Amino acid sequence: MTTTQNRQAKTVLITGASSGIGESAARLLAAQGHRVFAGARRTDRLETLVQEIRAKGGTAAYRALDVTSADDMQAFVRDAESVYGPVDVIVNNAGVMPLSPLSSLKLDEWNRMIDVNIRGVLHGIAAVLPGMERQGHGQVINVSSIGGLSVSPTAAVYCATKYAVRAISDGLRQETDKIRVTVICPGVVESELASSITDDTARQAMQVFRRVALHPDAIARAIAYAIEQPDDVDVSELVVRPTASPY
Ligand code: NDP
Repeated sequence: MTTTQNRQAKTVLITGASSGIGESAARLLAAQGHRVFAGARRTDRLETLVQEIRAKGGTAAYRALDVTSADDMQAFVRDAESVYGPVDVIVNNAGVMPLSPLSSLKLDEWNRMIDVNIRGVLHGIAAVLPGMERQGHGQVINVSSIGGLSVSPTAAVYCATKYAVRAISDGLRQETDKIRVTVICPGVVESELASSITDDTARQAMQVFRRVALHPDAIARAIAYAIEQPDDVDVSELVVRPTASPY
């Protein structure tokens, strides 16, 4: 993708930009001329990403971010503002998916999914909302999942977190007439997401489930589509699946 000048350049914050969907979104949005501020815990990956974007003429910076910490998220947004000025868009993308049957009682993993997938999104919203309300515009893009549309075995807690992302997003959308709120529900996408699964049954089931998968760039394009609409158009929900997958 070559850099284009015809879109309005925006300041876009992306959580979980060190791999998969977040990384693809960072590359695509920077190629489209947006100013990208990337966050994740693996800063070596972010450093490489930002260098590669800059080498192609794009504008990007990064900061270490753990979305489970509200303070860290506040600092992430403050740093982005000090580099680029007011935030136009936040993509709350960071997520984990250590699937297992409930009977495995992996409480630590349940809590981690709740902390990253739900609290992380809420921390992102809390950190940008006052600024967006003050400036009278902004966009919050939250990455849910097809797991936010229906539940399957071993995925009860993961799906619960993704249902929660849709509920929180729709609530936010209804409470504001200035801020655009978008939920993206990806189907199966090639990424590192399944690597957090420690349960054997769930890992085997996932290998079959993930045989047909989209390149993360497909989801990056959906994010870019939602961003590039005029301010009075809120793309509130997008479901993007592989054509050849029944899921
Ligand atoms: P990846 O595992 O490739 O990416 C997940 C990202 O989240 C990484 O950059 C990781 O960075 C980041 N992350 C995890 N924990 C934290 C944390 N505590 N603080 C900050 N960042 C964190 O998977 P995907 O790209 O697939 O996942 C992105 C989103 O897409 C997730 O919300 C996922 O649920 C959703 N999704 C993915 C699908 C798929 O099939 N791949 C399908 C549907 C939805 P780091 O470890 O460096 O912190």
